[in-house]
Amino acid sequence: MKRKKARVDKDYCAACGACMKECPKKAIKIHKGLFAVIDIENCIGCGKCEKICPASVITLIKSKEEK
Ligand code: SF4
Ligand code: SF4
Repeated sequence: MKRKKARVDKDYCAACGACMKECPKKAIKIHKGLFAVIDIENCIGCGKCEKICPASVITLIKSKEEK
């Protein structure tokens, strides 16, 4: 399966929550109000979070690189 998955660079995430609101699969949560965490099991690789992130800290990567 070659579907891409979103990944957050948590060190630079502003925890604004924009990605969480945008995700159609509700695969993103803000961990303790500090940074976004993506549940890659639910992520469909749509790229909406990557586009909306004001800090540009979300990238889509091939799922094989993750896990
Ligand atoms: S790529 Fe799409 S499904 Fe995956 S976390 Fe981002 S908004 Fe959600
Ligand atoms: S949109 Fe970007 S900066 Fe905001 S919570 Fe999501 S990953 Fe962090």
